Amino acid sequence: MKKVGVLSLQGDFAAHGAALERAGAEPVYVREREQLGQIDGLILPGGESTTMLKLMRYEGLFDCIAGFGQTKPVFGTCAGAILMARDVSHPAQDSFGMVDIAIERNAYGRQIDSRVVTLDPAPEFQQRTAPGGLEAVFIRAPIIRHINGGVKVLAEYDGDPVLIEQGRHLVATFHPELTSDDRVHRLFLEKL
Ligand code: GLN
Repeated sequence: MKKVGVLSLQGDFAAHGAALERAGAEPVYVREREQLGQIDGLILPGGESTTMLKLMRYEGLFDCIAGFGQTKPVFGTCAGAILMARDVSHPAQDSFGMVDIAIERNAYGRQIDSRVVTLDPAPEFQQRTAPGGLEAVFIRAPIIRHINGGVKVLAEYDGDPVLIEQGRHLVATFHPELTSDDRVHRLFLEKL
């Protein structure tokens, strides 16, 4: 069985663990550097990216995860997407730059900061997983403002990319771990 790490310093790592189990993988709740040697891929969960950044630095995990991403697949959701971007704004903060996207934090504003919608994912996503709409939960979500060459858009919402892939890495601005549809996690497992 594939072993997939979930960064478990803060945020909704437990929901990702359950989603991985549903998708047929074994979750490893990563809190220490040594655990990176035991896993085939890593999920950076939703939560609060600034807090995760501070805790990663405190635990000495930031550089190790950056190095891990140079050879192994990483999947970021929401705050995790922010951590993986090349450029972060509103406000700016440090990030891994694993995917060539510019992302704006908390970009949907305060009044309508959370919502559940049904996306119509790209045909390629449906071919590689299974056909059908994709329920997406957005919680104080960022918006991907720019994508560069090499980035593939697998789903959009309101004209903005919300599920993208670049090489071995996968990024969602929503929370696929909070619905029972495990296609996005399965897609990630295919990359390991
Ligand atoms: N707003 C959070 C941040 O900027 C992300 C929210 C989430 O992960 N649900 O880090």
